[in-house]
Amino acid sequence: MTFASPQPAGADSLSEIVQRQRDFFRSGATRDVAYRRTQLERLRQAVVRLEPELLAALRSDLNKPETEGYALEIGQVLAEIRFAASRVRRWAKPKRVRTPMTHVGSGSRIQYEPLGTTLIIGPWNYPIQLVLIPAIAAIAAGNTVVLKPSEMASATSAVLAKLVSETFSAEAVALAEGGAETSQALLQLPFDHIFYTGNATVGRIVMEAAAKRLIPVTLELGGKSPCIVHDDANVELAAKRIAFGKLVNAGQTCVAPDYLLVHENVKTKLTEAIAQVVESFYGADPIAHPDYGRIVNARHFHRVASYLQDGKIVYGGRTDESALKIAPTLLEDVAPESPVMREEIFGPILPIIPYKNIDEVFAAVEMNEKPLALYVFSGDKKFQEKIIGRIPFGGGCINDAIIHLGNPYLPFGGIGPSGTGNYHGEHGFKTFSHCKAVLKQSGRFDLPFRYPGSKLGAKVI
Ligand code: NAD
Repeated sequence: MTFASPQPAGADSLSEIVQRQRDFFRSGATRDVAYRRTQLERLRQAVVRLEPELLAALRSDLNKPETEGYALEIGQVLAEIRFAASRVRRWAKPKRVRTPMTHVGSGSRIQYEPLGTTLIIGPWNYPIQLVLIPAIAAIAAGNTVVLKPSEMASATSAVLAKLVSETFSAEAVALAEGGAETSQALLQLPFDHIFYTGNATVGRIVMEAAAKRLIPVTLELGGKSPCIVHDDANVELAAKRIAFGKLVNAGQTCVAPDYLLVHENVKTKLTEAIAQVVESFYGADPIAHPDYGRIVNARHFHRVASYLQDGKIVYGGRTDESALKIAPTLLEDVAPESPVMREEIFGPILPIIPYKNIDEVFAAVEMNEKPLALYVFSGDKKFQEKIIGRIPFGGGCINDAIIHLGNPYLPFGGIGPSGTGNYHGEHGFKTFSHCKAVLKQSGRFDLPFRYPGSKLGAKVI
């Protein structure tokens, strides 16, 4: 475990850092919106300055190509900073709300208050944006923050540690490197909010630890996100967008289409179209392509590769253990109860399940928990709306995949087992704020009805 912030002598423990952050928060400094904007600007400058190191770390951790690293990590972070910095003044302003006639004479407002000292625990798959975008929301809302990036993206974690220590004082923003034991130690400390992104097993650990102290949590988890392709869809375009959403970061994306439900009339056409698109992206041997992502480690490599046994491989199927790469693979004839259809795949394997009617779609999706995302490709508005209206899911797209997370006006988060709470843009600001309700009463008159023994009529004071 290391701490990435300038340390005064003796202040090297997690609890001391949290105590310093609590003291700093109590000083009131973070309540000033100008201060928050300065912090965001410092973060922006640091990300720009360290961009080459961040991109090199992503390459080293996940073989993420620089274009992808920029588009889906650094660019997202910079866009979120710009979005928040230019709006935080408006977001933070108290909002007047109406007051019913029963409260005549008074006015009401909602005041957005920072929560205090917050903890952000991130995963390895998008190790920059999944730590820094929640941090932007926490800073914009006026909190102090301790960041705990994933040890599994160790190169990125090291650059983030450097970025934080060079940019912020530890009482405002600190970063703790380390694995589960560091998270566990942090979870014992008196935070005012915990924001966790990662798998549901650890999500439960986080929620349990937080429950002991009644600390509110945001949980950004995963799940099996279905992708439905109806017989009236533009199949070529669907194939391109699905392949992009599935193969970016070698399928290690929380909102990647997990499995395909395809109308039987277009199944063959779609399968062939996806195979063609994959070759246009990565050539005939994607494993050999320098920009095709790798699986994060040997444990996940073996987990993902084991799904290849759960169906008939109709495209792909090659693996290279020494490079930790698994070729984009299409699977058919998968049994609904097989592991590939019950567990989140989180890799470049796409099971294809044909359906005849919409009830089969509902039945297949309902086999699993409420997903983080859902995608439906169809030209028929009624079909689209039946799917969107009936199936619960965190967020999703009609006729596209994964791009909803790039719209800062949309909340990003799951539902039930795929997550609790949401963020991005103003939604993130609100997640890290308390909506304080304030009613201001007039002293000019006093309605007597509420008092015991009162008679009707107002007494003017
Ligand atoms: P991970 O293994 O890096 O774990 C996430 C964090 O939890 C890390 O910081 C890790 O140190 C910490 N951790 C691990 N074990 C712990 C323990 N026992 N106690 C406390 N903390 C512990 O990442 P992961 O979980 O493999 O990430 C992949 C999962 O995350 C997938 O399920 C994916 O769908 C989900 N995910 C969700 C989102 C989202 O935005 N909803 C984004 C990315 C990933």
